[in-house]
Amino acid sequence: MEIYLAQNAGFCFGVERALGIAHDTAKNSSIPIYTLGPLIHNPQVVEELRKEGIIPLENLDNIKEGILIIRSHGIPPSVIESAREKGLTIVDATCPFVKQAQEKAEMLRKADYQVVVLGEREHPEVEGILGFAGENAVCVNDHNNIKNFSLSNKIGVVSQTTQSVRVLSRVVSELVKNKREVRVFNTICTSTQLRQEAALKLAREVDCMIIVGGRNSANTKRLAQLVKERGIPAYHIETEKELEKGWFSDVDKVGLTGGASTPNWMIQRVIEGIRKLSETGLAYKGTDVKRLPI
Ligand code: SF4
Repeated sequence: MEIYLAQNAGFCFGVERALGIAHDTAKNSSIPIYTLGPLIHNPQVVEELRKEGIIPLENLDNIKEGILIIRSHGIPPSVIESAREKGLTIVDATCPFVKQAQEKAEMLRKADYQVVVLGEREHPEVEGILGFAGENAVCVNDHNNIKNFSLSNKIGVVSQTTQSVRVLSRVVSELVKNKREVRVFNTICTSTQLRQEAALKLAREVDCMIIVGGRNSANTKRLAQLVKERGIPAYHIETEKELEKGWFSDVDKVGLTGGASTPNWMIQRVIEGIRKLSETGLAYKGTDVKRLPI
């Protein structure tokens, strides 16, 4: 069996940046540090941050002082406002790509467009974008969802950064069928696109795929979903402990990828995990993990 790693796998620019900001903040401050929700959607990394004194909270209810790090997903302006009113120091680690989606949503709202956000309604990034998009904004998760809303004739579209261009295109095609004006901003981030393209390319060359990342990570779930749609066996795992030997019987080539919030050390652990399984019976042929040329 040979192991292949997707060209683009693991931490993206926005996650690296947010982690850098968090580490620096922890190093240079002596007051409590909080994030609203986990800093990134990876439980193993969040545990490491907790050891540095960065505590994830569900809400700001009982917090009286300290630093609030805004994670890469961003938060709605109303929440920033209430954190300021409490006297919390704000450290903004919102990813610049997410910020762009927020700014486009705000710009569309101010220009009297009804904003349609393509994304997962419960996802914090979408919550944040909706906060900028105005009270009549709606969230759809695919083109079939549009009929559930009564929409105006002047529609502005932005997307959660982790969506796929294919789904965004379908939503826009559906909207233009009966709306007079549809203004679209493709706010899908290039890191997400690159990871998706690299994973799909790899999926064409291998017999099975392992997708590594948090189960609460939207972009990792999307990667797994896209790969599964290709019709090959694909397994979404968080750690190497979930690997099962049975997945690799009759497999010559296994492909590996990780979401944008998956640390490289976890990807390496999974590679080691597959190697160990191979020692107990699978024929592991590779000495190095290979990357297919783009
Ligand atoms: S996936 Fe893209 S938008 Fe999300 S944090 Fe990473 S770089 Fe930013």
